[in-house]
Amino acid sequence: MAAMAAAAKLTAAASSLLLRRSPLLRPHGLRLSRRFAPQRFVRHIASSTNEEAAAKAAAATADTGGPTIFDKIIAKEIPSNVVYEDEKVLAFRDINPQAPVHVLVIPKIRDGLTGLDKAEPWHVEILGYLLYAAKIVAEKEGIAEGYRVVINNGPKGCQSVYHLHLHVLGGRQMKWPAG
Ligand code: AMP
Repeated sequence: MAAMAAAAKLTAAASSLLLRRSPLLRPHGLRLSRRFAPQRFVRHIASSTNEEAAAKAAAATADTGGPTIFDKIIAKEIPSNVVYEDEKVLAFRDINPQAPVHVLVIPKIRDGLTGLDKAEPWHVEILGYLLYAAKIVAEKEGIAEGYRVVINNGPKGCQSVYHLHLHVLGGRQMKWPAG
C-alpha cells in the first residue's frame, strides 16, 4: 500500500512538473529539464513547430506563382549539392536533411506545378518522370533496398517551397505512420 501511495505521489509530481514546463504553457522557451524532456524530444517539438510556421508563411504567397529558391538552384545562382540531373529534372541534397540520405527531386520547368494539387492531365508525363528519377536517385545513393518518397502539399501538408518536389529519404529505418 505504502509503495502504491509513493508511486502515485511520484506520478503526480512528475505530471505537474511536465505541465508547468509544457512548451504550450510556456511559449517563450523550450528549456525543459533533461530528466523529463530529453533533447531529442525537445528538438522534435521545436523543429515541427518551425516547419509548420514556415509552411503557413510560405502558403501565404504560394499561389502567386512567383519564383522560389528552387528557381535559383536550377539557374545555379545559388549552390546546391546535385545528385542527379538531366534535361527534365534536378535532384539535390536537402539543406536540412531528415535522414542520412535526403534528396529533393524537382522538375526543371515548373509549368504551374507549385504543388501536387495543381496537377492537370498534361502533367502526367513529368509526374511519372519525377518518380522514375526518384528511383534513379535511390540507386545512386545506395538505398535501393528501402526508402521513402514524400510530397508535402499545402500548409496542412507542411509544404514550404511552392515548386513541386519529391523528397527521397533513406539510409535509416523509416517509421510508420509518418508524422
Ligand atoms: P517542403 O517543406 O516539402 O516544401 O520541402 C522544402 C524543402 O526544401 C525543405 O526540406 C528544405 O529543407 C529544403 N530547402 C530549402 N531551401 C533549400 C536549399 N537552398 N537547398 C536545399 N534544400 C533546401
